[in-house]
Amino acid sequence: MNPAIDAFLRSWPFNPTLVLSLLLTAAIYCRGWLELHRRATLRWHERQLAAFLTGLTAVFIALGSPIESFSSLLLSLHMVQHLLLLMVAPALIWLGAPFFPLLRGVPEAVRVNWIEPVLRNRGLRRFFARLSHPLAALPIYIATVWLWHAPVPYEWALRSESSHYLEHACFFAAGLLFWFPVIRPAPSRPTWSTWLLVPFLILADVQNTILSALLTFADRPLYPYYTEVPVLAGLSAVRDQSVAGLIMWVPGSVAYLVPLFVIGVRLMFPVGARVPDARAGAIGASRARVQLPVLQLAILQPPTASNGFDILGIPVLGRFLKWQHARLALQLPLAIVAAVLIIDGLRGPQIAAVNLAGVLPWIHWRGLLILALLVVGNFFCMACPFTLPRRLAGRWLGRGKTWPRWLRTKWLAIALFALFLWAYESFSLWNSPLWTAWIAIGYFLGAFAVDGLFRAGTFCKYVCPIGQFNFVQSLVSPFEVKVRSPAVCASCRTHECIRGSDAIPGCQTRLFQPHKASNMDCTFCLDCVHACPHENVGVIAGLPGKELWRDSFRSGVGHFGRRPDLAALIVLLVFGGLANAAGMVGPVVELQDRLRLRMGGLPTWGVTTLFAAVSLVVVPAIAVGLVACVSRSCGQIAGSWIDVATRFSYALVPLGFGMWLSHYSFHFLTSWETVVPATQRAFQDLGWKFLGEPRYQCACCRPVGNWLLRLQILFLDGGLLLSLYTGYRISLTQASKTSRSLSAFAPWGILICLLFVAAVWIVFQPMQMRGTLPGAA
Ligand code: SF4
Ligand code: SF4
Repeated sequence: MNPAIDAFLRSWPFNPTLVLSLLLTAAIYCRGWLELHRRATLRWHERQLAAFLTGLTAVFIALGSPIESFSSLLLSLHMVQHLLLLMVAPALIWLGAPFFPLLRGVPEAVRVNWIEPVLRNRGLRRFFARLSHPLAALPIYIATVWLWHAPVPYEWALRSESSHYLEHACFFAAGLLFWFPVIRPAPSRPTWSTWLLVPFLILADVQNTILSALLTFADRPLYPYYTEVPVLAGLSAVRDQSVAGLIMWVPGSVAYLVPLFVIGVRLMFPVGARVPDARAGAIGASRARVQLPVLQLAILQPPTASNGFDILGIPVLGRFLKWQHARLALQLPLAIVAAVLIIDGLRGPQIAAVNLAGVLPWIHWRGLLILALLVVGNFFCMACPFTLPRRLAGRWLGRGKTWPRWLRTKWLAIALFALFLWAYESFSLWNSPLWTAWIAIGYFLGAFAVDGLFRAGTFCKYVCPIGQFNFVQSLVSPFEVKVRSPAVCASCRTHECIRGSDAIPGCQTRLFQPHKASNMDCTFCLDCVHACPHENVGVIAGLPGKELWRDSFRSGVGHFGRRPDLAALIVLLVFGGLANAAGMVGPVVELQDRLRLRMGGLPTWGVTTLFAAVSLVVVPAIAVGLVACVSRSCGQIAGSWIDVATRFSYALVPLGFGMWLSHYSFHFLTSWETVVPATQRAFQDLGWKFLGEPRYQCACCRPVGNWLLRLQILFLDGGLLLSLYTGYRISLTQASKTSRSLSAFAPWGILICLLFVAAVWIVFQPMQMRGTLPGAA
């Protein structure tokens, strides 16, 4: 065993006062709880007992385990100790509703003669009520945390045992004070509004983020004490400080955001209200109570947003998009760019950073694509040049064959997307302009053949992996192509939006506007806009992600909850997003290198194949399968675990989107200038020198500012919150009682949080600057 780990495991401090105090408290609580439980079994639940005892255990781990011994050697372990005392232990202790059990647990004489007179004291009660008011508890908590993390008091606490005890006592007391208004243990009856807790928790998270960022990004040790102690586990004082900052940042933020989410949901949807998905045929939907508040009813209405903001109403842009040849006008320039890219990829220098095929698709197109999905929607499918030769193909190849029924799912596209992710790493596609050019050629030929032989739209709907990526990610886009007024559709008899009119095709992916919901399978081609004689279709704003938790029938798609192929696609995209980003961070690359050496010089593709198999198949299958089984059992959901996995997998979409967004925007924002020298070089090779000599210094990535890391974390935070909320909303449609819904949701919430932690870890790692010329600046 590693000597440092061995020493750690053997370093249990001997603190009899702590152990006896904790054991005595536990014994008193258990005695009182048992008595109360005997009298009112339903009110005094085992959960409270477990929470309280776990809270005491957290205190013991913080102060009586090797963490205490090593906290003076590693700042990161000291931070773990602080988080246990500030967040974990106090919250768990309050969740144990300790007042009555502790009172009942002490001998009667002590209670009657000593404790009750103190508790009856009005002045004391008033003082505690004021102290535990959010407006008092928050400043006290923040002041305590910041004061003790200032260099001078922190150093003082490290060098003096008594002040170290004082620091821990302050943290634990401040933690109890902070979590009291959040948890409100019985029998407290707060007089203030629960809404106060929303800014309360947000401010707590903001101060936590600022303090942890100061620690994470400091380029010198803030606490000189740690420069004087031996270096452990190869962690220098500055690195150790960054790790401490991260520990405070990520689990700390989760500790504030999870209760914020729960409280927000409770405020918006008071307990007792259920959200049955009447039209969904969802698992367990028939058992849902019909008692809906107005807000939920509004959400469950069919997609009727006739008065939302409509992009087609914007003066110049709207007119352009309504123009029948708008798509062609966007496709033609991109087709020219694609042609130039292919020629440069085939004939230009095979150095990714100076070749248009090395920079345009892997840095610019991916970055702009994901940013467009975030801001507007699937407009890149609209401008897609691969479908341009479609009409020609139909004329040459005869078009009209029906795509085989057994292929009318996403399984083929899933296989192609997994193949792409594997090939990307195995053959370093980003680093090969030649491969990139051949992929683009293959794409043109594939689209030409499929849409030439089969009905138009077949390639987009069933084959194209990029299209599937866009369809899934655009489920969280703010805009959707949909009808302006359902009443107009109700009186329409001609249905040109799906049948087409003389010159304009109807929807080629078979989405009938009156029953279309969400962006799934919508290429934003706007044929329905041009075909509808009543001008009843718009590109209308809506609540991002709302379609993820609805499970109504959708034209051309069916029910989300009955499409395991869609669920598998989502799981692949979520885990693929993490794996794709992880494949280019330092520790994972080192691990792969070590593995290669250990396996006797396995070729690169062998290791990447192993990595792809584990990250894209084994881990997702085990994680989602396990979580679905636990969720089904805890929530007592009818239906198989596959049904549960299918329905809940939609909750993962926002977090997966956050990962892709964070990853692709990183490359785009750090390396967008690479297009300059690549274009100058391509023109120079053609003999056109008017763009000047290639400025190769632009091919070097820009320095990564702290703002970019914060932006990436923000994207992930947004994904986390929307994923948690979506999971919760889905759970409400699956179980018959609120408590069961929460039990069904809990395993998915844990999986989402674990994926979030993995994503944050990835963005904090040094990332390979692919497609750039390091050192050219
Ligand atoms: S053609 Fe227009 S009005 Fe008729 S069903 Fe389609 S979208 Fe509605
Ligand atoms: S609904 Fe169909 S026709 Fe309308 S924009 Fe989407 S894919 Fe095109």
